[in-house]
Amino acid sequence: LGPTITAGEILVEIMATSVGTGFLEPLPLLGPFPSGAPAIFIDQVAKLGGSAGIISAVGADDFGTLNIERLRRDGADISAIDVLPDMPTGTAFVRYRPDGARDFVFNIAKSASGQIRMTDAARQLISRAGHVHVMGSAFAITGIGQILTDAVADVKSRGGSVSFDPNVRKELIAEHGQAREQMREILAVTDLLLPSGEELEVASGIKGEEASIGALLSLGISEIVLKRGALGSSYFAKDGRLDSPAFAVKEVDPTGAGDCFGATYLTCRRLGKSPEDALRYANAAGARTVTRQGPMEGASSFAELDAFIRETGSET
Ligand code: ATP
Repeated sequence: LGPTITAGEILVEIMATSVGTGFLEPLPLLGPFPSGAPAIFIDQVAKLGGSAGIISAVGADDFGTLNIERLRRDGADISAIDVLPDMPTGTAFVRYRPDGARDFVFNIAKSASGQIRMTDAARQLISRAGHVHVMGSAFAITGIGQILTDAVADVKSRGGSVSFDPNVRKELIAEHGQAREQMREILAVTDLLLPSGEELEVASGIKGEEASIGALLSLGISEIVLKRGALGSSYFAKDGRLDSPAFAVKEVDPTGAGDCFGATYLTCRRLGKSPEDALRYANAAGARTVTRQGPMEGASSFAELDAFIRETGSET
């Protein structure tokens, strides 16, 4: 199997330790933690023993080194991460509100992640890849959409596969006609779609779960896996539907659950596991992630997932 690859931002996340609104006063903070949704996804694939690499950029600073060393330690291919001497690594400051919503202060566009380019190392990684994972959020960052589009074309022409997590906010799509167009192009070549919540309807462009699923399957998407947070997940394909309940855990930090879930489902399927087993492992990976503070801290190996499933017992 050629590596699973993606392109996108690498950040550190620094979180407020108290629940509240915004950052308008000095606060106790925790971090830096390795982050960036594409990096979390690739780290999780690598932790499961899958071959995985990311096209990205960091600054020549401690935040960049922290990320590179974590990805290297967990077994990811870091050859296509550019280290830029004149740009800082991207940052995300996050604070949880009492209702569970999050306030963010991002620096992505003016960080190394805003400078991700198609380098020789990136081309080489793409030429070896067997699967491309596309994140809708990547289309909001200059240059990454084109890298992903090129990678998808190359990998598909060699018989590889594509997964798509349309994690794009509605507002963004409404504002940027181009994002809607790029999403349509990606959906036309997607094998595995990984939406959560309203993203399903955003992707289909129509109302209602059943109608949306039907419309998306008729585009030729072979598997749709809907993430339902604490309610678990559902699988839809031409041959039917499976629902898999969540594991009962105490949620400490939800960031990263969707990426660890998606990476685990994809890797299980690429390793030949059934949709049912893949859903169970993915639910376990998502649940284990929300029990840990820091978005990448809950990334799990199969041994850790097996132990988690044994200890947490039956699903809710
Ligand atoms: P995010 O964008 O915050 O990373 P998401 O919206 O893409 O996440 P979720 O549905 O929140 O994805 O989470 C993915 C999966 O993780 C769920 O389908 C579920 O299996 C698991 N999960 C998430 N939250 C919980 C929870 N509180 N308890 C148990 N499992 C959870």
